[in-house]
Amino acid sequence: MACSSNVFLKDEQLNPKIMKLIKEIIQKEAPSVINRGKKLINRLKRNVKKIDDLILKVYYLIKIGGNMKLKITELKKEKDRYLAMVEYLDGGIEFYPDGKGGQLGDRGNVEEAHVLEVDRDGNLFLDIKLELGEYEYLIDIDRRCEIGKNHTTQHIISAYLKKKYNYDTVGFRMGKEYSTVDFPSLDLIESGKIKDLEEQVNRIIKKGLNIEILELSRDEASQIESLRKSISDKIVGKIKVVKIEDFDMNACGGFHAEKTSEIGLFKVINYEKVKKTITRIYYKAGALAYEDYDEKHNIIKKSTIQLSSTIGEINDKIDCLLEENRSKTKELSGLYRDYSELLCEKLKENAEIIGGNKIIIYKKNDATTKFFSRFIDDEKYSVIYGVNGNFTVMSKAISCIELKTNLEKLGYIIKGGGNSARINLRIDVNIEKIVDIFLKLL
Ligand SMILES: [Zn+2]
Repeated sequence: MACSSNVFLKDEQLNPKIMKLIKEIIQKEAPSVINRGKKLINRLKRNVKKIDDLILKVYYLIKIGGNMKLKITELKKEKDRYLAMVEYLDGGIEFYPDGKGGQLGDRGNVEEAHVLEVDRDGNLFLDIKLELGEYEYLIDIDRRCEIGKNHTTQHIISAYLKKKYNYDTVGFRMGKEYSTVDFPSLDLIESGKIKDLEEQVNRIIKKGLNIEILELSRDEASQIESLRKSISDKIVGKIKVVKIEDFDMNACGGFHAEKTSEIGLFKVINYEKVKKTITRIYYKAGALAYEDYDEKHNIIKKSTIQLSSTIGEINDKIDCLLEENRSKTKELSGLYRDYSELLCEKLKENAEIIGGNKIIIYKKNDATTKFFSRFIDDEKYSVIYGVNGNFTVMSKAISCIELKTNLEKLGYIIKGGGNSARINLRIDVNIEKIVDIFLKLL
């Protein structure tokens, strides 16, 4: 498991080289290590050799990693979730809170319950109700690793911008899909150097710089001259300083990769100006960046098939289609106008005459009706048209506002509006009902 999940870093007696070896064994051979561990328990009674002892240690670490226990001391329902207050048993690893240090929190399981969120006090939101008591729990370590990669990337971005331009990082936020980092200058956007930032950060990633977490007293930490940012007074007790070889040192309590090369890939997906003077960079790193590439690759591949083009031709093809669409829309609009003119002549010829008023009823609402006011003189005709709960009434023989009021008096809920000569009515009735009320107003 190549990430500083802290699961395997509890035992100070093991030196870093052995720890690295253990992690490699776990990553590649966890199932066989467990089997060997079981056999070794029996052999333990017969003076195990040192290396076997080490493997036994790994076995127990795996067992602890998979079978940690906590105690639910309180549980209350909050909307459709359950908020559990917990105590960790036998030095179990704590779920990391959401939003602490701008990071995402841990997810995992407390037996069959899923951990949906971890609040700032470390309380767990669960999806199902559990009784008070002791439970085995599991933290999603893969997710932690990816959080560590995306967060370490922020250290690299911030360090590079500080070194190169003396920009301080003024904001960091990690989301499930992407992370953002803010710095107080618009120069990189204005000078088109975001691409350079992307290349430089990827260069540091490729170098495979080692990342160490130093646990120091405040005095020790404050003596480090190369700290990128001064240490907050809010931090009490030991201070964790993240050291990326001679590239960067910064106090931080979050998750990190152990080597920059674990991150694999960094991609700026967007940037924008916020609050007039701040540049916000949106990025993805690690598996998120790869998944993003994969998703976009699939979309583009599908587009090349749909457009019968190569990737390089896609934009030109789309421009052509948009232009063709604009021209067809214009042409069609002209045809609708011409058709509407002919239709209106026919509707006028067939208008019903009631009490000296000429009334046109048209049970449609389409591209032709928007030209009715152009071809039908509302001084001479009243028009009621529409379908499916969306009607228009044009008339100077009655007050259209009064028509709406009378429908409302019958208990109908009406959206839309207009004036006394023309009104739009969105109402759940058929056209006959509107005609009925209209005729009563004549
Ligand atoms: Zn950090």
